[in-house]
Amino acid sequence: MRLYSTLSRRLEQLPAPPGPIGMYVCGPTVYQRAHVGNARPFVVFSWLARWLRARGYDVTFVHNITDVNDSIYEAAPGASADLAARATAWYVEDVGSLGLGLPDHMPKATETIAEIVTMIERLVSSGHAYVVEGDVYFRVSSYPDYGELSNQRSDEMAEQEPNPLKEDPRDFALWKRTKAGEDTAWDSPFGRGRPGWHIECSAMAETLLGSAFEIHGAGLDIVFPHNENELAQSRAVGSEYARIWMHNGMLRFVGEKMSKSIGNVQTIREVIDRWGHETFLLFLLSAHWRKPIDFSDETMEQAQAQAESFRNVFRGAKVDGGGDWRRLEEILDDDFNTAEALALFHSWRAHGELDALRRGLEVFGLGSLAEEGSAPLAIEERARARQQARAERDFGEADRLREEIEAAGWEVRDVAESPGFRLVRRR
Ligand SMILES: [Zn+2]
Repeated sequence: MRLYSTLSRRLEQLPAPPGPIGMYVCGPTVYQRAHVGNARPFVVFSWLARWLRARGYDVTFVHNITDVNDSIYEAAPGASADLAARATAWYVEDVGSLGLGLPDHMPKATETIAEIVTMIERLVSSGHAYVVEGDVYFRVSSYPDYGELSNQRSDEMAEQEPNPLKEDPRDFALWKRTKAGEDTAWDSPFGRGRPGWHIECSAMAETLLGSAFEIHGAGLDIVFPHNENELAQSRAVGSEYARIWMHNGMLRFVGEKMSKSIGNVQTIREVIDRWGHETFLLFLLSAHWRKPIDFSDETMEQAQAQAESFRNVFRGAKVDGGGDWRRLEEILDDDFNTAEALALFHSWRAHGELDALRRGLEVFGLGSLAEEGSAPLAIEERARARQQARAERDFGEADRLREEIEAAGWEVRDVAESPGFRLVRRR
């Protein structure tokens, strides 16, 4: 399997299965319901983990939660920890609704403070960092390869975190002395404060995956400074850190006039509620992970039509069999080309090669498209009656009908799109 790495600027070969494959993916800063753009790295790297496992790899997938940060202090003065805890629960709930499972580890910065402090001490004692009035800065001039990930000349870089006390405008904070208005802080050898954003990822990744691992994932928007700084901190103290650096393209609202309805849909939760998770996953599947993808009513309607075309082919289908699975392996093993995989799924659909299609959809969390829609009419009528009962707020009757549906071997799910429910065979 080959994957494009931002660091080497070419396709890199993974070791033969079973690996192991350690995969660290930068997670969200938690202070509000997560934006739909945050779903893309989660989905792309969850899919990659699922595919690697299907190919026989032993994968450990780590996805962090940044729960101490300026944005959180600003969003909830005096109550930042409460907000971070609530927003963490929202994030886990929202990405959990995508139907792809959760990463193996979701470490929080606030639960990794000891490891972060140890790493900063190593950087200070080896001359790669220095303390200024309770802040600790990474000394960029001590690491000659700085800039290699974002492909910038180190002497032409923009200043990070301006502070006249820094030795060099490029230096960035590892530890920040506690300030007025910040309601969380920890003791450290450098004084009371809290970690900078970049060091937490280096510390969490190395704690859970060791000092060398295969894949680091993130959105293209944080190559610099965040990922550049992670790489510098870890390599400065002798860790190889990640070998392959994958950066997914951005989800864009721009490029066309934003319709009123799309303008109102900004969070993962709203997208799932309006379109259903299968439609959203198919939308993301349609672009190569490195390319940008445009989110609009039109592109979501196209994805919805594709979901319907897959459901239709399984409705009452008796003809199973066929499908060249090796072709899917060739496509995905060559830089994980999901857009081409989707084209292959449509070809399987058109040719009635439903065994391979069902198996392929399951890799991407879309197995439900192959299970639905063939409920007997009597079950469908009960589902409609249940909807009517709910609309009339007769929840007792609605529950009774749901139990009847379940007793007949079906599960009724509420969805945004017409007819407002979906019937899924229970396993
Ligand atoms: Zn990170």
